[in-house]
Amino acid sequence: MSVVGFIGVGNMGGPMAANLIKAGMTVKAFDLSQEAVDKAVEDGATAVGSAAEAVLDADVVITMLPAGKHVRAVYEGEVIGHAKEGALFIDCSTIDVETTRDVNKAAAEKGFDMVDAPVSGGIMGAAAGTLTFMCGGTDAAFARAKPFLEVMGKTIVHAGGAGNGQAAKICNNMMLGIQMVSVCEAFNLAEKLGLDAQKLFDVSSTASGQCWSMTTYCPVPGPVPTSPANRDYAPGFTAAMMLKDMNLSQDAATAFGAETPLGARAAALYDQFCAEGSADVDFSGIIKMLKG
Ligand code: NAD
Repeated sequence: MSVVGFIGVGNMGGPMAANLIKAGMTVKAFDLSQEAVDKAVEDGATAVGSAAEAVLDADVVITMLPAGKHVRAVYEGEVIGHAKEGALFIDCSTIDVETTRDVNKAAAEKGFDMVDAPVSGGIMGAAAGTLTFMCGGTDAAFARAKPFLEVMGKTIVHAGGAGNGQAAKICNNMMLGIQMVSVCEAFNLAEKLGLDAQKLFDVSSTASGQCWSMTTYCPVPGPVPTSPANRDYAPGFTAAMMLKDMNLSQDAATAFGAETPLGARAAALYDQFCAEGSADVDFSGIIKMLKG
């Protein structure tokens, strides 16, 4: 059975590593947080003292880190120099496309296959092993990564070459961020017009206004009982995480010359929402700020 070096066993990486262990793999876990490592050990991982140690005899290296700077530092500083010949690298963090392509190139220059495989599905999807992986890399690298991703997820999409997994992730989440604002604005306008929220839901959830932010994650309490609006906007997916992803899409739009005026406006609104003290609130809670 494979040995996996897992770096970053936080809220997402922890349960993902646990699923690999359940499938019979040996996981060597490293994280800067002792609490995260302790939890991984409870789940059956072996704790190691550094990223370099985690990858020494690993067949596969998986990273689930906060941002591009962490991914670059971990791969360029420790992973590439210490991994055994032929090891496969899978970065599941959500980061910028440029860093992803740089790190992939640095790995390829030393003969390593690498896949960027950011996820959708959140902490519950990580625990249930039902994540969606959006993957970038060569056909050969993707084919090697797929069996491992299938242990942690349900839908595995090869989106193209290096960085295309990240591209798919940030384009998707830019749509999500904009659509949530649009749904919030519609419910706020409906209230002013004397239109009941449930009635708007009954119409729009089956009409041309329908989208995930309406039908699965409705930002008003009532129509979708499982949405965060029914638990005072406890996350879910925090506004801080949405802001991170919106900013990634805006940085990419600037770097690659794409016009995204609604993306820019939505990013500014989430920025304001976080600055007003709501960074840890579910992102659908922005409806309260938009009410004015
Ligand atoms: P987290 O903060 O819980 O976990 C990240 C872990 O990385 C932390 O435990 C931290 O200590 C560790 N870390 C940071 N730098 C390190 C280093 N140099 N070496 C070793 N460990 C290091 O975050 P998370 O919620 O697990 O998110 C991880 C990634 O997944 C992020 O890129 C995030 O955008 C993405 N993501 C999260 C969710 C979600 O719902 N939480 C959903 C989709 C994608």
